[in-house]
Amino acid sequence: MPQPKTISLRETDCLVLGGGITGAGVARDAATRGLRTMLIDADDFASGTSHVTSKLVHGGLRYLEQFRFRLVIEGSIERDRLLRRLAPNLVTPIRFLIPFQRRSLLRWLMVVTGLQVYGLIERIRWGRRTSAYGADRMRRDFPLLRRHPFGVTYWDAQTDDARLVLSTIRSASAAGAEVHNYTTLREAVFSDGWWNLTLASPDRGTWHVRTQTIVNATGPWSPETAKRLGAAEPQLLWLKGTHILLDRPEQFGNDAIIIRSLRDMRSLWVIPWHNRLIVGATESVYHGDLRDIHPTRDEVDDLFESTAHSFHDAGLTRRAICGAYSGVRPILRQPGVPENRMSRDYRIEMDHARALVTVSGGKLTTFRRMAEHAVNAVQTILGGAPATPELRIRLRNQMLWPGLARADAQRLLQQLTPRAQRLQLAPGTLAHLVSHYGADAALVLDDVAKDPESGRALFDGLPYTLAELAYVTRAEAVYHLLDLIKRRTPIYFLAGAGGSDRYPAIAAHIAPILGWSVPRQEEEVALARRELNADDDAIENTVDETAAHTHRRPA
Ligand SMILES: Cc1cc2nc3c(=O)[nH]c(=O)nc-3n(C[C@H](O)[C@H](O)[C@H](O)COP(=O)(O)OP(=O)(O)OC[C@H]3O[C@@H](n4cnc5c(N)ncnc54)[C@H](O)[C@@H]3O)c2cc1C
Repeated sequence: MPQPKTISLRETDCLVLGGGITGAGVARDAATRGLRTMLIDADDFASGTSHVTSKLVHGGLRYLEQFRFRLVIEGSIERDRLLRRLAPNLVTPIRFLIPFQRRSLLRWLMVVTGLQVYGLIERIRWGRRTSAYGADRMRRDFPLLRRHPFGVTYWDAQTDDARLVLSTIRSASAAGAEVHNYTTLREAVFSDGWWNLTLASPDRGTWHVRTQTIVNATGPWSPETAKRLGAAEPQLLWLKGTHILLDRPEQFGNDAIIIRSLRDMRSLWVIPWHNRLIVGATESVYHGDLRDIHPTRDEVDDLFESTAHSFHDAGLTRRAICGAYSGVRPILRQPGVPENRMSRDYRIEMDHARALVTVSGGKLTTFRRMAEHAVNAVQTILGGAPATPELRIRLRNQMLWPGLARADAQRLLQQLTPRAQRLQLAPGTLAHLVSHYGADAALVLDDVAKDPESGRALFDGLPYTLAELAYVTRAEAVYHLLDLIKRRTPIYFLAGAGGSDRYPAIAAHIAPILGWSVPRQEEEVALARRELNADDDAIENTVDETAAHTHRRPA
């Protein structure tokens, strides 16, 4: 990624608005095809829906119920591609269990049969099986689910959503794209086949760019963006989803489990993620401010009570809730269809006359495919030759940044291990650095060599160090403390109390890199804590009135 202050492109073939997973994928694809590409985000990269998902890379089992076989097959192919080729460092397999109570025996048999279709796709593609569980195996493997004597398992995958976006953006950048966060579109005028744009950012002021095409990849904001560009607004509906984070009980194991909401019987996922369980998501139509989305007490209650009911024997109390987050999903409006049955499919709209491509809907999992279709539309507008078969194969299979295959990562790990040991890095820290930053892990070690304290783990049981945060600040266009703790790393979600007691130390460590004064550091810490408190309000309200404990309050 270039230094944030570098602006070299004044004329582009493709300007991408939006730095969530959709825009990141489009920028990677366009730049790899050799188009002069720029990506801008009005806020931080991944600051929209793409950092508050269920963090799954999945085939989409629920679409089977709706007989949407194409969507399932597409999702499964893309999941597979990410797992095996594009991002094996960031996407890992996870097994799901659907448990059933005795009275649901018939439904269990139906689901076991239905899953054979999903399982067939899985078996053909990656050799992992769905399997039916009877009472004995359930007791042995899932002791917390004593009320559920039957079950069936299938495989999907999980990721760190924001890191997937950042890796994709770094891939775009490595392929030649110029990327700018915190950059707004002030003015857009289309004339003589060119868009003349005025862009602005707080520390670079205002500048002008000419572009032959624009891709609107602004997710939930795409109708607003289309309006600003004088184009037809995509017809979207905003569905809000909330997740809670629980301390992961020891007995939980490594499988995700699907439970039912006590309120409306909707399926909820309980997914192990590092030291947490992610439980979600609620789903409701959203009409509020897209930049200020937080969980409500009702949503948190539903998620917690449903989990505590399903895992009755785990004795979960509200003390186990250690965080909550919400986001909105833009989905294509389908008149007459209930919200929970509306398709998560995506749509690419091409406005040839205004040289504009709009990408709407979709999911994290299928970003590469959406990008391929969107850039095909861009090339149609540009009138150039479509991607050659060789290029298409490269686009489909080229690893995302840092681009290390498993064997290469293993070799690098072995090579750097003696140095990491000499520097007394905690176990697991080096493997984390290599898998996230590839060869750049050595740069982090260089920092630790100069300042050994910066190599100490900041939080018990987590691999994050000040040296890593300094590297990320330099390399990944960090502007605010929240960019660093919520999107470049998931400290906000994984550390106790959101990591808030270490915010001042982190701000002080990165201050020389970003030129922050002491008041600016204090401002950043306050901003991050305000965000944490807004997410936690719904949790604190749900805590027993008598209980003295609150969550995540800074010490
Ligand atoms: C609760 C929930 C759970 C989900 N879980 C999963 C899951 O587990 N797996 C999965 O595959 N999918 C999941 N999804 C779907 C997936 O998250 C979304 O489809 C995807 O993140 C949308 O990405 P996007 O880039 O289109 O939008 P966003 O991530 O919202 O990005 C849009 C970007 O545009 C920027 N922007 C806005 N206006 C402008 C402007 N004028 N100029 C420049 N930039 C602008 C914003 O700052 C933002 O960064 C989930 C969705 C939700 C809501």
